[in-house]
Amino acid sequence: MGKLTLRYITTAKLLAAALFGATLLTGIHAQAADTATSTSETKTRLILLGTAGGPLPKANRSAPANVLVVNGKAYVIDAGDSVARQLIKAGVSPTSLRAVFIMHHHSDHNADYGNLLFLSWAAGLKNAVDTYGPPPLVKMTSLFLEMNDWDIQLRQREEHRPELAQLIKAHNIQGDGVVYQDENVKVTAFEVEHYGAKPSYGFRFDTPDRVIVFSGDTQRTANLIQMARNADILVHEVVNDEAVDRLVQRIDPGNMGLKDHIVNAHTPITEVGKIAAEAGVKTLVLTHFVPSDGPDDKDEIWPKDVRKDFKGPVVLGRDLMEVK
Ligand SMILES: [Zn+2]
Ligand SMILES: [Zn+2]
Repeated sequence: MGKLTLRYITTAKLLAAALFGATLLTGIHAQAADTATSTSETKTRLILLGTAGGPLPKANRSAPANVLVVNGKAYVIDAGDSVARQLIKAGVSPTSLRAVFIMHHHSDHNADYGNLLFLSWAAGLKNAVDTYGPPPLVKMTSLFLEMNDWDIQLRQREEHRPELAQLIKAHNIQGDGVVYQDENVKVTAFEVEHYGAKPSYGFRFDTPDRVIVFSGDTQRTANLIQMARNADILVHEVVNDEAVDRLVQRIDPGNMGLKDHIVNAHTPITEVGKIAAEAGVKTLVLTHFVPSDGPDDKDEIWPKDVRKDFKGPVVLGRDLMEVK
């Protein structure tokens, strides 16, 4: 167990060891003031910006979004509702944005895609930003710019902002493979199975000091296990399948289509530990919790089944948590 993990445990609210006989890390929040400490320990920072699953806005968790900060540059993975504000709350300047990666086009993952770019530009972004996602990302980007043309033109004219359309380089992902590479990260997209949402992707980030894999929204997918092989961190979605009936009853009683989607499009809690173990990842981070509010989203619920199969550290994702 490394130095970072040990430090984690000493500062964490541990609810695990006694209950589950296992290493469980929870309640560790990112602290903007902690930047100097963390960058001295590792070049790559992973901060969970939003850990809810599903498009309904929630009081306790923000919509899916994550950021990697490598050598001062920000790489955002998913852009759910409030992603720009979550970046600010995490102490990451939107002007450090270098690239954005959208896993698929469900609205919980992309509702603020355009706004992230738009507001980062309003905050003073000067450099180009590459964006990647399944088609029709390029078309969505140009339509967003068109929709907001009034403000964009005015600010370019009056405030001498750089031309926003020239800063954004949108790319449609056309299949598995390396989609982006610079001096800080190599990003490999891989297709995952997300029921009717085709294509949907997960991403593997190889940075100078860490390999971090994001599952995206997915059922159990062999492609993910292969791409996550021996990764330092696997950030994986999770559904408590026992709670799905209660969730549907709460938000849209009798909607069998909704239940069908939740059950078939995601990975049940009983499978996530098996996947992490098969992939041989060092640390498993749970996120995209479904349900992600109400009585079925409690810390003691999530790790029980995971721990049966995965013996490494399990992190229960929280908004603004930095995973060290
Ligand atoms: Zn989702
Ligand atoms: Zn989805």
